[in-house]
Amino acid sequence: MSLDLVISDVRIPGSPETVDIGIASGRIAAIAPTISSNAPRENGLGCFACAGLVESHIHLDKAGILERCVICEGTLAEAVRETAEAKAGFTVEDVYGRARTVLERAILHGTTALRTFVEIDPRAGFRSFEAVVQLKKEYAWAIDIEICAFAQEGTTQEPETEAMLDRALREGADIVGGCPYTDPEPEDHVRRIFDLAERHGTSVDFHLDFDLDPGKTDLPVVIAETKRRNYGGRVSIGHVTKLSAMPPAVVQLVGRQLADAGIGLTVLPATDLFLNGRDRDHLVPRGIAPALDLAKQGVVTSIATNNVLNPFTPYGDASLIRMANLYANVAQASRNDDLEAIFSMVSCDAAQMIGRSYAMKVGMPADIVLFDAPEAATIVREIRPALAGWKSGRKTFENPRGRLLR
Ligand SMILES: [Zn+2]
Repeated sequence: MSLDLVISDVRIPGSPETVDIGIASGRIAAIAPTISSNAPRENGLGCFACAGLVESHIHLDKAGILERCVICEGTLAEAVRETAEAKAGFTVEDVYGRARTVLERAILHGTTALRTFVEIDPRAGFRSFEAVVQLKKEYAWAIDIEICAFAQEGTTQEPETEAMLDRALREGADIVGGCPYTDPEPEDHVRRIFDLAERHGTSVDFHLDFDLDPGKTDLPVVIAETKRRNYGGRVSIGHVTKLSAMPPAVVQLVGRQLADAGIGLTVLPATDLFLNGRDRDHLVPRGIAPALDLAKQGVVTSIATNNVLNPFTPYGDASLIRMANLYANVAQASRNDDLEAIFSMVSCDAAQMIGRSYAMKVGMPADIVLFDAPEAATIVREIRPALAGWKSGRKTFENPRGRLLR
């Protein structure tokens, strides 16, 4: 067999011994305990190898604007308000520079695919969109970017936004996203976003139920529209922090409904923790949807970064492993199988959520990332770094192991 590269001595899920991976024409051509070949070799150092991390929910357009905003309340309403003001001043070059910084950090942390929301409305215009479309092209050598044309501030009270989303979907946006909690007519908003998705044949992603009041929820309309339009498997919802304010029996019921309808759910631990519970001065609630419980009921779940250095989340390094560790800690997860499930939420399950095939097997594109650990649970437990990555067989980054100089 003629190979272009062999990555030797790596661990993959389901194989107790280390294996070699042979790559030819950008694809995985062989996986075996030992591959003899004259092709160049990379020593995998016994690392865990996977198809990389998948960021299912990030906002590249509004990352890195902390110094332009004031955070007094630390609430969702304030974050939306402050960001709306800042984005009116965004330029294409400005968005491009900030988004590129985050994107490069994500690549260095082992992310090989991401879905980014991009706000398109009368304040943002198409400037953020233009910048992210450019990045998508320029960084295709390292990462697959899916662009979600997003109505952060509602549509029914500002109908021009809907026409702008429509145009973005014609000009390069891959999917459409809505935000019923900022729209005065949340149910109408959900239906209109679905209409747009259906018209363009795209998936749909909603920011949903982002508070801790279990009384009022926009879930029923999303579930009903998903079923009515036969849209199962193409709908995802983010936050849904209300679920953390509901007793287990109710969460179980909702979980069954989501699994039946084919709706995926993303938790955004950094943002959910930062913005929720601001009305409390002690015993502040965690406010993160119980993703592990929902996954056990068959709901496709993911963990994602959401925001980086802005009023929604004044922290961030675009590391999905750090997010997975944060979620594990908040969810009080300790067992290896739970930590493996959490790793899946930033890799294969997140890929499924954004409709992407994901596997380390012969015939697949040679998108490979090596983590400095023997298996997935350890990566999450100890926030082990990504040491190197390849996309379609071409090396895209290196983070050599640190060493002490005694
Ligand atoms: Zn978001």
